[in-house]
Amino acid sequence: MKHIGTFRDAGFPVDELELFRGADMAAAAAALADCEVVQLNAGEAIEDTVRARLYIVLSGMLEVETDGHAGTSDGHITRILHGESVGEQSVLDDAANLDAVRAVEDTRLLVIESKLAWQLIDHSNAVARNLLRLLSFRIRAANALLRRRQKLGEFYRQLSLNDTLTGLYNRTWLADMLPKLVARARNQGSPLALLMVDLDNFKKFNDTHGHLIGDAALCAAANVIRDGLRPSDFAVRYGGEELMAVLPETTAELAQMVAERLCKQMREAVLFPDMRVPMPHLTACFGVAVLDPNGDETSLIDAADAALYRAKEAGRNCVSL
Ligand code: GH3
Ligand code: MG
Ligand code: MG
Repeated sequence: MKHIGTFRDAGFPVDELELFRGADMAAAAAALADCEVVQLNAGEAIEDTVRARLYIVLSGMLEVETDGHAGTSDGHITRILHGESVGEQSVLDDAANLDAVRAVEDTRLLVIESKLAWQLIDHSNAVARNLLRLLSFRIRAANALLRRRQKLGEFYRQLSLNDTLTGLYNRTWLADMLPKLVARARNQGSPLALLMVDLDNFKKFNDTHGHLIGDAALCAAANVIRDGLRPSDFAVRYGGEELMAVLPETTAELAQMVAERLCKQMREAVLFPDMRVPMPHLTACFGVAVLDPNGDETSLIDAADAALYRAKEAGRNCVSL
């Protein structure tokens, strides 16, 4: 950052400075006359993390990176053009400006020290009003950025908890949520049921129709489970062609009824309505279990798995408790 003279020497028209819009121009010019003007070369940063100062761009352009860490792309970049300022917040709260400010091209800056900035605020309602407007704009922009990041964060969180093929919850979700659902059921003394679902002869289905059709069939089966549950239930892809339904507040009798209904819906579901060649219907086995008063998530899954095995043994396309 190179000193190149005073504002008086620069001969810059005061009415082009946003901060002084509507202010008494003669008074502003007089107040700014002895302020320093500095030059930043393209790419150079304002290394001024200690002192609170206001900078106004006289020529060239600055880039402010908010909240970014060097070398990462999570920062947000704002450009500061001719007549605009940076550092006003650091003057107002007297804190160092931690955002990275860099010249996009060779840039001349008017430097207004904190003390003078306060005098300008004290003496000119227009300057105070312009600063308020600017701050309000900055707060809105920062809030919008936060909202965007929050949405993006939720999006990625959602992505990491759902199976990409079927859209059902995945094992990561299950590992996080099942212990919580078990704990809640035990604390409240309410029943918790689990259905383990395994598609019948799915290897043969793949071998006959190909893996891609198999994928689509798996999605259709996942939809049957998801659409057949109450909003308070959860459908999970446990792995491969094994799905699962977690049913809070559900007794063994009720869970068995749900499983019977889903089993029927599965064998009756039309997998590919728009296909000219009719496809075979899919069937599945359902193992039903409820949480034992002294059980945990592992014993619950084991019990549902054992029930599923019995359904396979019984000849498939059926429910077992
Ligand atoms: P069973 O009735 O005893 O359950 O027989 P099965 O053939 O369904 O069971 P097995 O465990 O022998 O085979 C499971 C098949 O599921 C084999 C595997 O290729 C298929 N599969 C698992 N995940 C996917 C997937 O994401 N897409 C497709 N298309 N097939 C899958
Ligand atoms: Mg299987
Ligand atoms: Mg199977």
